[in-house]
Amino acid sequence: MSEEIGLPAQARVVIVGGGIAGLSVAYHLAKLGWRDVLLLERHKLTSGTTWHAAGLVGQLRATHNLTRLAKYTAELFARLETETGVATGFRQRGSLAVAATEGRWIELKRGASMARHFGLEAQLMTPTEARNAWPLLNVDDLVGGLFIPKDGQTNPVDTAMALARGARNGGARIVEGVRVTGIASRNGTATGVRTSHGDVAAEIVVNCAGLWGHAVGRMAGVTIPLHAAEHFYVVTEPIAGLSPDTPVLRDPDGANYFKEDAGKLLVGWFEPVARPWDERAAPDDFAFGTLPVDMDHIQPQLEKAAARVPRFGEAGIRTFFNGPESFTPDDRYLLGEAPELRNFFVACGFNSIGIQSSGGAGMVLAQWIVDGHPPMDLWDVDIRRVMPFQANRAYLRDRTGETLGLLYAMHWPYRQVETARDARRSPLHDRLAVLGACFGETAGWERANWFAPPGEDAVYAYSYGRQNWHDASSAEHRAARQAVALFDQTSFAKFLVQGRDAERVLNRICANDVAVAPGKVVYTQWLNARGGIEADLTVTRLDATRFLVVTSAVCQTRDLAWLTRHIPEDAHCGVTDVTSGMAVLGVMGPNARPLLSQVSPGDFSNDAFPFMTSREIDLGYARVRASRVTYVGTLGWELYIPAEFAAHVFDTLFDSGEAFGLKLAGYHALNSLRLECGYRHFGHDITDETTPLEAGLGFAVAFDKPGGFIGREALAAQRGSPLTRRLVSVVLDDPEPLLLHDEPLWRDGERVGITSSGMFGHTVDRSVGLGYVHNSAGVDAAWLASGRWEVEIACERLSCRVSLKAPVDTKAVRG
Ligand SMILES: Cc1cc2nc3c(=O)[nH]c(=O)nc-3n(C[C@H](O)[C@H](O)[C@H](O)COP(=O)(O)OP(=O)(O)OC[C@H]3O[C@@H](n4cnc5c(N)ncnc54)[C@H](O)[C@@H]3O)c2cc1C
Repeated sequence: MSEEIGLPAQARVVIVGGGIAGLSVAYHLAKLGWRDVLLLERHKLTSGTTWHAAGLVGQLRATHNLTRLAKYTAELFARLETETGVATGFRQRGSLAVAATEGRWIELKRGASMARHFGLEAQLMTPTEARNAWPLLNVDDLVGGLFIPKDGQTNPVDTAMALARGARNGGARIVEGVRVTGIASRNGTATGVRTSHGDVAAEIVVNCAGLWGHAVGRMAGVTIPLHAAEHFYVVTEPIAGLSPDTPVLRDPDGANYFKEDAGKLLVGWFEPVARPWDERAAPDDFAFGTLPVDMDHIQPQLEKAAARVPRFGEAGIRTFFNGPESFTPDDRYLLGEAPELRNFFVACGFNSIGIQSSGGAGMVLAQWIVDGHPPMDLWDVDIRRVMPFQANRAYLRDRTGETLGLLYAMHWPYRQVETARDARRSPLHDRLAVLGACFGETAGWERANWFAPPGEDAVYAYSYGRQNWHDASSAEHRAARQAVALFDQTSFAKFLVQGRDAERVLNRICANDVAVAPGKVVYTQWLNARGGIEADLTVTRLDATRFLVVTSAVCQTRDLAWLTRHIPEDAHCGVTDVTSGMAVLGVMGPNARPLLSQVSPGDFSNDAFPFMTSREIDLGYARVRASRVTYVGTLGWELYIPAEFAAHVFDTLFDSGEAFGLKLAGYHALNSLRLECGYRHFGHDITDETTPLEAGLGFAVAFDKPGGFIGREALAAQRGSPLTRRLVSVVLDDPEPLLLHDEPLWRDGERVGITSSGMFGHTVDRSVGLGYVHNSAGVDAAWLASGRWEVEIACERLSCRVSLKAPVDTKAVRG
C-alpha cells in the first residue's frame, strides 16, 4: 500500500481517468456486481474536459446503434438523481434542430424516421411551429425543424458526481491525485498500472483518460487516434423573458447551438475549421484548465448566432469560454478491448458528445468487460477499426481541424473527408488519378470511388438526390455486367497463414470447411461462441501448409487480432500481414475471360478454371495469383499481384482492354453491383449480432465438418427453430428515391425492420438495399410474400418489394 494515499496493491479493474466516461464505466461495473474496481484520477474528478461541457444530452445519432446508446444515456440520467440522491441538474426540455436548406431538411427527416424506429419521439415542425417552440428564433430562412421532446440537458459535473456516488455505493474505489505513468503487461496481456504512488496489479485496465487517452495508449503500445481541439462557447448576460423551459436549439447550418442556462443563453458552436490543440504543450498539472479566446476566430460564429437568434446579438456576453476536447479521425468514439493488448480496454475520444454518450458507452463497455464480449453490435465505435498509422500525430492534428466542424456540417451521403488525405495509396493511385479517378477514403486508403469522364472534374457535388457521379458510375456498373470492368481492390487486407497446423487452426475458426485441395477458394465467416459473425472473408488454400486470408480494408486490424488470438499457443501456425506487399485488380464481367486470355497464356475456360479456384498465372511479364471469385455477381477474377508488378499488370490489361469494352470502375459501382446480388458487407449487413442463418449465409456453414468450429453449437440450436429475424433484399418500386441505410421497413402498416445498406442498382434501374425484418412467428418467404411492403425515407413511406432472393441472380451471370 502506498502510505500517503492508501492505494491498494491490486484491484480487479483499474480505470484510468475520473471524467464522466471513467465514472460511468465504474458505475456500470458496480451495477453488474464487480466490487473490486479502482478508479485513478491524476487530479480531481471532472477536472479534464467534463467540468466545462455545455451539458446537451441529445439522442439522435448518425446510426441506429449510436442512437440506441445515446437514448440509454438519457434514460439513465432521468433516474440517476432518484437512485443516488445526488442532484444532476438533468432536465428533459427537449431539443429543436432547425433546417435552413432543403438538404438539411431531408437530413433531419431521415433522422426522424430512424429515431421513431427506436421508439424515440420525434416531431417535424413548420417554421412557425418552430418559432412557437422557441420564441426568440428567427425563422425567416428556415425550411423546418425537428423536435425531440425527450432530449435533455444536464449539469455535467453534478451528473458525473452522481455516477461517482452510484459507483461508490456499489463498492468501487475512487482515488484522486494519483497519476498513471505506465501500463504493465505480460505475454500481450495488461497486468496492471504504474502510478505516481506505486504499482497496482490488475486483471483489467481501462483507458478513460479523455484527451490524454492517446498518451495512455502509448504507455501500453496501443493506438488511440485522438487529438484535442479548442472548443468554445459563450454565456450571455440574463435575457428577459427567456423561459426556463426553453428547449435546446441546434442550428447546424449556422454551426451553432443554444441552451437556456439560468436565464442566460449559453451559445456554442462547431466552426468549419477548428483549432487543434496539442495537450503535450500544456503543463503537467493542467486541470480545470481553460485556453485563451481568439476573437478573430470566433467572430464569424457570433454573427451567425445573432442572425439566428437576434436577441443574442443584443445581449451582453458575460463569459467567453475555450476548453480542449478530443476528436477522432472519423468523429466516432473509441470503445472496446485494444487489439494490441488483451484486457486493456478503451473508452475515449468522445468528439464533444461525451456527456450524452457516457451512459451508453459505460454500460456496454462494462458488459463487455464482465462478459468478455460486446453486448451488441458496436462496430461503429469499436477500437478495432483503427489502423496503426492513425497514431501519427501530424495526421491527427491535420484531421482534427476538420472533424470538429463535421459534427454540424451536412452529413451528405458519400461525403469524404478533405484533410490528412493521400497518405495510404495503392501503387496504381497515380495512374488512376490521371485517368479521372475521384478518390474516397476508407481505412486511410485512397480508393477510386468513380471515374469522371474526360473533360469533367473528378469532384463530388453532394446532394440527397442523384449526385454528379451517377451516370459515370452507371457506365462502370454496366461495363461489369455487359463487358468488363477493372477495379483496383488493393485495399483488401491479406494475411498469410502458414504452418503444419494451419489447416487445423483455420478450420476451427472458419464456419466453412477449409480442409480443401490446394487452389480452392472458400468463402466463410468467423463466428463467436454465440454464432454471431465476427468476420466475413475468403480463405484460399495455397498448398499443404499455407493459406491466404483476404478480408475488407476496414477489417484489417479486427480480423488480424481475431485470428492471432485464436491460434493455440502450442500450434505450429503463424500469421503474416501481407497487405502492403500485394496489389489487387478485379477483372470483372463477361469479357474478363477473353481479355485475360489475350494477356496471359493461362486457360480461363470454365472447366480449366472453375468458380472459387485460384492459381498462379503469367500475365504480361509478371507472375500473379488469379482467383476466380466475385463480389459483383459476374464472371471475373481477382488478381493478386506483387506490389512492384502492379503498374505493369495494370498497363497490360488496360492497353488490351479497349477491344473488350474495358472500363475502369470504382467502389460506388462495386457497391451497386454487390447489392443487386445481395452480397453482404461486414459492419453493415452482417455484424457480431447476426448469425449466418439470419443473414442468409447458411450455405457457407459446414455444420458437419470434423472437429466443428467456434459458434457451431449456438448455430445448431438456432437451426432447429423458426428465424424471427432475417436479412432481406429490398427493391424500391419508384425509380427516383435513393436508399442509403437505416430506413425503416413497414409491412402492412407496421414497422418491422430497417435497412442496413442501400444504393442505386443500375441493372434493375432503381434503388436496392439489404435490411433486417422481424416477426415473432418467424420470417419466411410466405410471410414476406403475403405482406404489403413499404420503406420509409425521410418520413415518407414508399412501396417496395422485399424478398429473401436478391434481384439479380448470380447463378446465371457468374459464367
Ligand atoms: C466547450 C465544450 C462543450 C461541450 N459540450 C458538450 C455537450 O453539450 N454535450 C456532450 O455530450 N459533451 C459535451 N462536451 C464534450 C464532453 O465534455 C467530453 O466529451 C467529455 O467530458 C469527455 O469525458 P472523458 O471522461 O472522456 O474525459 P475527461 O473529462 O477529460 O476525463 C479524463 C480524465 O482523465 C484524467 N487523466 C488523464 N490522464 C491521466 C493519467 N495518466 N492518470 C490518471 N488520470 C488521468 C484527467 O485528469 C481527466 O480528469 C463538451 C466539451 C467542450 C470542451
